[in-house]
Amino acid sequence: MGKVISVINQKGGVGKTTTAVNLAASLSVLEKKVLLIDMDPQGNATSMSSIKEENFHTIYDMMADPQISAVYSTKMPFLKVIPCNSDLTGAEIELLEVENREFVLKETISKLKDKFDFIIIDSPPTLNILTVNNMVASDGIIIPIQCEYFALEGLSRIVKTQKSIKNINPDLEIYGILLTMYDKRVKLTYEVENDVREYFKDLVFQTVIPRNVKLSESPSFGMPILLYDVASIGAKKYIELAEEFLSRIK
Ligand code: ATP
Ligand code: MG
Repeated sequence: MGKVISVINQKGGVGKTTTAVNLAASLSVLEKKVLLIDMDPQGNATSMSSIKEENFHTIYDMMADPQISAVYSTKMPFLKVIPCNSDLTGAEIELLEVENREFVLKETISKLKDKFDFIIIDSPPTLNILTVNNMVASDGIIIPIQCEYFALEGLSRIVKTQKSIKNINPDLEIYGILLTMYDKRVKLTYEVENDVREYFKDLVFQTVIPRNVKLSESPSFGMPILLYDVASIGAKKYIELAEEFLSRIK
């Protein structure tokens, strides 16, 4: 059975999509069969996966109708994607009417779990019914954080949420906290890193993702960093993250 991982942080712009897309791509290069699911109505992970089809189905369609498949190929042989678009915004309201509303995504992807080694879910910058669905459907979460003021406060809020989700999904683990947009020249980076590592210890990935201009350019070309610039430090670091991740979950 494949492992399901949600990339979660209620704070916007901390590198969730960059991490979901590039970790998925890196695992696929390591010949793991990977499915990336875009669960953010902004659809950023979808844009970075360059799906060829024009009128594609989405995760929203799949959640509404079990007959629909929205699993699409990408330019990377081991990587598939379930896209989304702003339709998913409607799901936030519609789900409130549904019985067992926390379990809709889990149910939707249950048949896919044995077809992939890893299913990676990108989340919106909120803690709402969509993110709850993501966490209920997952075996573990990865939390990207930027080394800035209030990073720790934000982190404790997610950890609190993860603990409360354990009431309905007792197996939900934290696979790791990831420092993103890491900038050695900034003193605050060290201070926040020290605090986070002291408090969360081994939960924090050794690998850190540096601020890298190639990583910020690749979305506008609609591709993961490995296709955009394989020699960049960003590409190297996401491969390193994939390796560290694999060594952790064994
Ligand atoms: P949202 O909450 O809006 O979904 P997010 O948490 O998914 O945001 P991203 O979209 O991954 O965050 O990143 C925010 C911005 O920072 C993007 O423009 C992205 O290209 C850029 N970015 C992410 N990681 C890096 C990095 N390591 N170096 C440089 N730029 C980065
Ligand atoms: Mg995002």
